[in-house]
Amino acid sequence: MQIILLGAPGSGKGTQAKRIAESRGIAHISTGDILREAVRTGTELGRKAEPIMKAGALVPDELMIGIIGERLEKDDAVRGTVLDGFPRTVVQAEKLERLMTEGNGKSEAHVLHLLVPDEAIVQRIAARRSCPACGAVFHLENAPPAVADVCDECGGRLVARADDTEDAVRKRLEAFHRQTMPVVKFYEAKGWLREVDGLGSVDEVFERIDETLER
Ligand code: AMP
Repeated sequence: MQIILLGAPGSGKGTQAKRIAESRGIAHISTGDILREAVRTGTELGRKAEPIMKAGALVPDELMIGIIGERLEKDDAVRGTVLDGFPRTVVQAEKLERLMTEGNGKSEAHVLHLLVPDEAIVQRIAARRSCPACGAVFHLENAPPAVADVCDECGGRLVARADDTEDAVRKRLEAFHRQTMPVVKFYEAKGWLREVDGLGSVDEVFERIDETLER
């Protein structure tokens, strides 16, 4: 099963992608997580990506296509994947289609678009905290950790993401509307796109996603 989760930054893609992957026994592939890990460990990719991410812009397609190509070849991707944060441009979407056709003979995927209005996103991101060690994500009001600033999953210290500043969030939203909405249209034209209301609790949104995938 191939699932592509589209949505603006802060729409809940990461949280929901993780739950979908766990419940269906498929691999969760987050290109944002891969890049943040590269930044954290100081690889060449990380050094290239860090200033771009910090500014809220998109990392160049050639780099991203290399990353996803390598990741899709790993063993755990064979049973299925939920893609979180890829594709973000039409060039990436076209390349993904070719990669999937080469890999398993068919390119078709369940494409879900999580809908959250921009105003709600700005509010959500300001309250977002995440764990650099394991990637768990919290919300100070809606999903706070049991102990302030400490990750429930691994005990790591929670931080605000470097690109969760107001300025970077505005740029990321702009990049979403300008570069990723055409990807939404690309899948809509194929008849693969389904919209899911992304407002509400994590459980409510997950249930909607599950129902949509079963339909
Ligand atoms: P995310 O965690 O998905 O919000 O991604 C964080 C940042 O990583 C984005 O704002 C981009 O700078 C970069 N990024 C992640 N995935 C992609 C992608 N598919 N194409 C370009 N840049 C990406």
